[in-house]
Order: sequence, then structure tokens, then C-alpha cells
Amino acid sequence: MEKKIGFYVCSGCGIGEALDVNALLDLANSEFQVPLCRSHECLCQTEGVDLIKSDIEKEGVNTVVIAACSPRVMYDVFDFGLDKVVERINLREQVVWSHPAGDEDTQMLAEDQVRMGLTKVKEIEPPDPFQAEEMSKDILVVGGGLAGMTAAREAARAGYGVVLVEKEPELGGYLRTVYKLPPENPPYETPEENPLEKLVKEIREDNRIKIYTSGRVTSIAGGPCLFDVKISQNGTEIAERVGAIVLATGVIPYDASKLENLGYGKYADVVTMVQVEEMFKAGDVKRPSNGAPVSSVAFILCAGSRDPEHLPYCSSSCCVEALKQASYFKEINPDVTVYIFYKDIRAVGNYELFYKKLQKDGLFFVRGNVTSVDDDGSGGLIISAEDFLTQAPITSESVDLVVLATGMVPTTAFGEPYRQPQAGQEGEVEIPADAILVSNILNLQYRQGPEIPALKYGFPDSHFICFPYESRRTGIYPAGSVRAPMDYARAVDDAVGAALKAIQCVELTSKGMAVHPRAGDMSYPQFFMQRCTQCKRCTEECPFGAINEDEKANPLPNPTRCRRCGVCMGACPERIISFKNYSVGMIGNMIKAINVPDEYEEKPRILVLACENDAYPALDMAGLRRLQYNAWVRIIPLRCLGSMNIVWIADALSKGIDGIILLGCRHGDDYQCHFIKGSELANIRMSKIKETLDRLALESDRVRVEEVSIADYYKLPQILDGFAERLAELGPNPYKGF
Ligand code: SF4
Ligand code: SF4
Repeated sequence: MEKKIGFYVCSGCGIGEALDVNALLDLANSEFQVPLCRSHECLCQTEGVDLIKSDIEKEGVNTVVIAACSPRVMYDVFDFGLDKVVERINLREQVVWSHPAGDEDTQMLAEDQVRMGLTKVKEIEPPDPFQAEEMSKDILVVGGGLAGMTAAREAARAGYGVVLVEKEPELGGYLRTVYKLPPENPPYETPEENPLEKLVKEIREDNRIKIYTSGRVTSIAGGPCLFDVKISQNGTEIAERVGAIVLATGVIPYDASKLENLGYGKYADVVTMVQVEEMFKAGDVKRPSNGAPVSSVAFILCAGSRDPEHLPYCSSSCCVEALKQASYFKEINPDVTVYIFYKDIRAVGNYELFYKKLQKDGLFFVRGNVTSVDDDGSGGLIISAEDFLTQAPITSESVDLVVLATGMVPTTAFGEPYRQPQAGQEGEVEIPADAILVSNILNLQYRQGPEIPALKYGFPDSHFICFPYESRRTGIYPAGSVRAPMDYARAVDDAVGAALKAIQCVELTSKGMAVHPRAGDMSYPQFFMQRCTQCKRCTEECPFGAINEDEKANPLPNPTRCRRCGVCMGACPERIISFKNYSVGMIGNMIKAINVPDEYEEKPRILVLACENDAYPALDMAGLRRLQYNAWVRIIPLRCLGSMNIVWIADALSKGIDGIILLGCRHGDDYQCHFIKGSELANIRMSKIKETLDRLALESDRVRVEEVSIADYYKLPQILDGFAERLAELGPNPYKGF
């Protein structure tokens, strides 16, 4: 596209008072030969926007460069259509609100921001959205339990075709076992009727929903809007094309026979909560040992949960389930004695009212760690525990029945460790300890493995703070208890959320746009394959499994799986992966556009490569709060620190820039990286930077990685000024002036 640039500087919000705006206009005109350079006192107001629109119409401007507020605000105001390139230069939050007005260094900072913005815009091309034949907007739901049926119903109600696959001959999943649900309506004191029948009827009567019971997904190839799914049902294979997938395969109760001290399997009258539901549902409540009525029952909560030897996590719903089952016993016999042995009662929200009601009903709550369940010698059972606070031993009265509130294990946590196929390696190969498990649920035809990766307890969640419902496979949304331990009510909410995410996915993808977190981005990585060395770095490092490989290890990108993070671009040693609006060369040229004064001026320069997800907004927030930091910093936003190509460090240092800070998200188990492992990869790459620094005879302290979350904005002055002080100790970069 031949560019006709219009350059606009806003003098509102304090910019005009702090900066010499005319000098910025002159710079654009003289250094970058931009013929159309204008300023306005309030560009975001109607008059300012009309000024730009008029230049688009009358002057043929197709590339609009706006030097004003942060690109994180007013993006809707400065949207001039998909065929226009718009570049925003942040003069407000990151220049005038965070540096002294009228200062020479503040002006120099603004000028460099303009240089970088105009350099960038020269290299940007409007992206061509990815389109393919026969894109589908149907939604596959795997699992026909409460969450799966809810997701299917909601997606269908919103007008989308649904393919529902359930492995059992009947719909319902665990709900088929359940007698009643915990109270969900005021006054929150009585369990609810099981909604199974109504839900199944709704699903069966909706002709937008195709149901495959006794079905299994045997293969899923492709990506969002292009998923080719094979379903096996009663010996026949069915093919479906779908746009997005909701995974709602639920959990399996923890194996109670592993809790040897609690007597399961040893005493017939030690049962699980699943068995109690079955008893009440069948209307056949009795002691399994002798068929006698139950006159006393003890529930043991956290049976195996919150226990490092079994399930280290809280299964979230067992406390309320136990309270609900206690109420069942009280309902059929108000004189029944009920003990609840607990570590904590986690009855949150309105369940607290239910808990209070049961306290009044005369349940005995005992806060203690249960150590054993034993036969009392006459057919009853005795529970021994240790008081939670005093550690004193406690022994219960003899009871007829002991109920273990065992926790939940996600269905995705069962399976064999998966080893990625390695070209040229055959026979026995060591399986890494952190290998993902093949649970044989989705059978994805992905280079990075056939199931969606999970967090450490096997739940296939993704970003635990920002993106519930996401997984690490684009277009696949876990819902309900398979995603995280949860109760029925939350599973219903979760299923609605996942259905909406799936709808968002098919709508965006069908327009060639990225899904979360770069929703709407139409660029995608393009590979200059003539120079590919088949090193496999891109296929291995893509956090979303977007790139498959052919038998010769050539990358085979799947554009609709791509989240546009640029991690592959940062990984490629040949630098042959780029986006139309983001490339190694583009950022390299922005770095080269920074004006680096010579060493005698005592004006060091610090390059800040800031992840645009948390670090860049944190810098904006620092400006918003008028926190001040040194004016030597030059900030370039990156899609993700994982997109950082090591060549930028060499570019910056050889240009004479004195120090570089990579500002990104936390990595590790409680990572906050929006692209999962981008910041971790940047750290790994940075560990190799020492070699470059040694080659350039430079101190390794000149390059630093800092982890910040959006809430860490107040730390930024200390981080940036502390770094400047360290650089002052090191002295100027010896490459300055070359
Ligand atoms: S690394 Fe990121 S940009 Fe590259 S293919 Fe994967 S998702 Fe897309
Ligand atoms: S990282 Fe670059 S060179 Fe290596 S396989 Fe991917 S595209 Fe080819």
C-alpha cells in the first residue's frame, strides 16, 4: 500500500503546556518528510476527529499517526476503518504526565517517541484477514452432564448449531446419580429438585442440537472454524466440522480405597457421598452391612482433599454436598444423629444460610483431623480424630454409617504421559517428568500433543487470573468441574461462560480475527520458508500448539489457532517469521530511530521493551497517577516478551543505548503471562544474552529483566530510576557514537 501519512499532535491534556508541539510537527516534516502535519487542542473531540476525517477524504490520507494519549484509550474514537493504518504515539501518560513540563529531556523523550512511531508506521501494512472455505460456526460440546448440556442449550438458544457428544448411552452424567441439588433459592434452606429431566427434554427438543450418545471423539484436526471432528458411535464413524469446542467431561471422585485409615473397602458401612446419593435416589436408605435403618451417621469432610498425600487442593463443593446429604437423613428421620468431622466448613455465599439452618437442626460439628475409622466390636463404627486447635484426641460415639466426602479428580488428569514425536528418534525414549497426559478425550491432531495441557493438578485451566474459560488450545473452552473444582451452580455459570467464549471465537475467527487476548487483531505470522532451516523452534515454542510440522520438520501454521503473540517470531533464529504490522525488522528500526546523544552530554538512554499486556498498562497507570521517573527511558511495547528477538538487544547496544530493561509478566507456577510461557521464554533467551554482551565487551548489568503486574505501577519509578543509577555507575556504553 502506498502510504499517505497524516501526522496529528494533540495539545490537550497538558501536552501543549509541557511540550513544544511545533517542534514535533517540524520533526515529522523535516526528518520523515511527512507533508501533512497538524496540531489540535483536543483531537478526541468531534472537531479533532473531523479534522482527521476531512484529511482522509480530501487529502487521501490512508495512514494516520496520532501523537496524543495512550493507545489503550480512545481506540474507538480513532478508528477510521480497516483499510486505514492508525498508529498512536503515547505523549500523554508516558511523557508529559510522568516527566517535568518544559524540560529539555522531556522534549527529547517526546521527539524520540515521534521518531519511533513514524518509523514503525512506515513498515506497517494493513493485514489481510485469514479466510478459508467452509468455515463452521457450530459448537462441539464434549460431555453431556450438567455443564455440557447447559453449554449446548445456551449456544443453541443463541442460534448456533451444536454437536453434543456423550460417552454414555444416556445424557446426564453425574446428575443421573444425584438425588437433589443444594439450595439455590431463598431462603436457601431446602435442597432443590434435580433438573435432569427438564434439561434433557430441552436439549432433545432443540433441533439445533445434534446428540451423539454412546459417542467418543476419536480425532480432532484443524483449528477454530475449521475443526474436523471424527466421532465414533456404535461402530460407525461420523464426521463433523465445527468452529469451537466446549470440553465438559467433568470429574471422577477420588478413589476412596486409597484412604486406608478411613476404612473404605474394609467396612461395608463406610461409604462415599456418591453411594449416599444413589441410596436416596433409589429410595433405599439402609446400612449396607445388614440392611438396617440408619439411626446415626458421621460425615468425614476433606476425605483425601487438602492432603499432600492425596489431593492437595480443595474440591470446593464437598462441604455443601455433605450438608445437603445430612439434610436428606434429617428429612427422613429428624431424630437421626449426624456428626460432621471437618477441617473448615467452606459454605460460601448463600450456602452459609443453609449451614446455619442445619446447625439449628441439631447436627454435631466436630473440627478435627480424622485419624481412623474402626469397628466398635458390635457392628458400629467409631471415628478417632485429633482436635484441630488443641490436638487433643477425640473419639466419637458409635455410628451406623460413615460417609467419606471424597474430592474430585478432573477427567483430563487420567491417562498416559505423552512424549512429543521427535524426527529421527525411534524406540524407547525417556519421558520428561512434566509430560502432559493423554487422556483420550479430544484426540487432537496437534504436533504438541493430543490433549489440552493442564495446570499442576490436571485441570485444563489456562490463565488463573485474567482468562477463566480459556485453555492453551485456541477455540477449546473447558467448562464445569473439569476446568476447576466447583459446585453445580458454578458449573452452570461456567458452562454459560464457555458457550459465550465459543461463540466469540467462531464470530471473530470467521472474520479472520484473533481471539483473546488480542481480540480483533487480523494479522497472523507469515513464514519466509525459503530460509527455514527446519530447526523446529517455532513449532516447539508456540504456546498454543498453532504450528504443526510436516515429515521434513517444515512448520505448518494453522492461522485460526494462532493468538498472534509473536512467540514464534521471537524464537526463530533465522528471523523469517513476521506479521504485517509487527516484525523483527520493524522493532529493530524503531530502536535504531532513537536519537542517542554522545557520551559527553551525560544523557544515557534506556530501552524499555514492555509487554503490552501488563507492563505497558502499568506504565500508563504510573503516568495517570503522575508518578515521575527519569526521562532517559524509551518505551517500545511488545505483544509479549516471548516475541522478543535477541537481535534487538544487539541492535540497541551497538547503537549506543546504555541499558535495556525487559518489563514482562511473572512466570513459573503462578505465572501471569497472557501468552502462558512468553515471559519464561524471554528469560531463557536472556540467559543466553551474556554471550552477546561478552562479545561486545559490555557489562551484563546493562540488560535486566523485571517482572511486573498491572498493579505494580507504583514500583516503576523505583525500577527505572534504580536502573539509571546502576548505569551511571557503569558509565556510558562504549559503542556510543559509532
Ligand atoms: S507462537 Fe503465537 S504468533 Fe506464533 S503461531 Fe503460535 S500463537 Fe501464533
Ligand atoms: S523457527 Fe524459523 S527456521 Fe526454525 S523451523 Fe520455525 S520458521 Fe523455520
